[in-house]
Amino acid sequence: MQGGRSMVIRPYDARELGPLLKTLGPVLPELTVFGVTIGSGKEIVHFMRVTRSLASAWYVTKRLTKHFLEVMKYGRGMTLTNGNALAARLARSAADLSIPVWLSSPAVRLLQDGNRVSGAVVEHNGQRMNVKARHGVVLASGGFPHDLERRKKTYPHVKAGHGHFSPTPQTNVGDGVRMAEEVAASSTRPCRMPPHGRPCRWCRVRMARRASCLISSTARNRA
Ligand SMILES: Cc1cc2nc3c(=O)[nH]c(=O)nc-3n(C[C@H](O)[C@H](O)[C@H](O)COP(=O)(O)OP(=O)(O)OC[C@H]3O[C@@H](n4cnc5c(N)ncnc54)[C@H](O)[C@@H]3O)c2cc1C
Repeated sequence: MQGGRSMVIRPYDARELGPLLKTLGPVLPELTVFGVTIGSGKEIVHFMRVTRSLASAWYVTKRLTKHFLEVMKYGRGMTLTNGNALAARLARSAADLSIPVWLSSPAVRLLQDGNRVSGAVVEHNGQRMNVKARHGVVLASGGFPHDLERRKKTYPHVKAGHGHFSPTPQTNVGDGVRMAEEVAASSTRPCRMPPHGRPCRWCRVRMARRASCLISSTARNRA
């Protein structure tokens, strides 16, 4: 699309994941109706119009019936939507290409070779391991929605006690931002924080470049 920012994910059949399925995170209960995750886009429109449109009522009936048949057969719904569908499809591709994926393995800090980020220290199976990067390190740890202290410093309304609930993963505690700051702080001036609480665009770019990293702006905006 030319406009907007959201991705609408094509539904994915969980059976294609095979044994990987048990490693897929659960969906947010807030986003389900009778256990069915309602897909963004057309599907959610049908659910909203269920009492006002015959076509939508028919769609919802078919969707719920399919879901309950799957629950009877497999013990869970197999039609994945939204982020679950995206994660599942990516997991399938990674497995098909024999790309190792370490689960429950938090990155702790970045490694540096002079001014260059050369890898990361990662906790894996109870051990801290140095993972060397040949080309670069991508920090995709989801902003800092669950780092209350940083949110207070960044957003005046949170500091004033008007913070809101965030349905983002509880594990998004700002590790990526912290790690980027740690290496940027040792190799460049700290970023100036203007009164409105956000670093200027150039500072953000410069910090990201210095750290050879990419910090998801969508995640930061969401935080
Ligand atoms: C309820 C809800 C509905 C949404 N619906 C849509 C939608 O329909 N379409 C759309 O386009 N967007 C949607 N979004 C927004 C979308 O989910 C986010 O923009 C997107 O997930 C951001 O991706 P990310 O990779 O930056 O962060 P995330 O997807 O949050 O992933 C960050 C990951 O990093 C992990 N992590 C954190 N710290 C570390 C560490 N130290 N080491 C290793 N891993 C770490 C976390 O555990 C987490 O798994 C929705 C968001 C919410 C909350």
